[in-house]
Amino acid sequence: MLAAEEATREIIGNNHQYKVFSMVKKTNIPGVWQCAECGISLSCKSQTINHVEIKHINDPTAHTCKYCFKQVRSINALRIHTTRFHKVEHRMNKIHRQMTS
Ligand SMILES: [Zn+2]
Ligand SMILES: [Zn+2]
Repeated sequence: MLAAEEATREIIGNNHQYKVFSMVKKTNIPGVWQCAECGISLSCKSQTINHVEIKHINDPTAHTCKYCFKQVRSINALRIHTTRFHKVEHRMNKIHRQMTS
């Protein structure tokens, strides 16, 4: 049962990522990315991902904070949330990762 639940969660997560990456397109100009949905060009990939997540997908449950399970609609919002509310845990986590890898 638990494995099935985990698998479902993974599919939902991947589905969001799949939607994002199907809308974020590389252009012929190096370093310039384009939104396939509305055609806007942005000068970095993370900005384009943020644009797609906020403007087009607009799913308030797209990303879940791993520390308090709050749900946010973009990677950017998750990053802001993590640095604002979980600075210490986040840093510890990073150190832990460096030690174990
Ligand atoms: Zn767009
Ligand atoms: Zn949190």
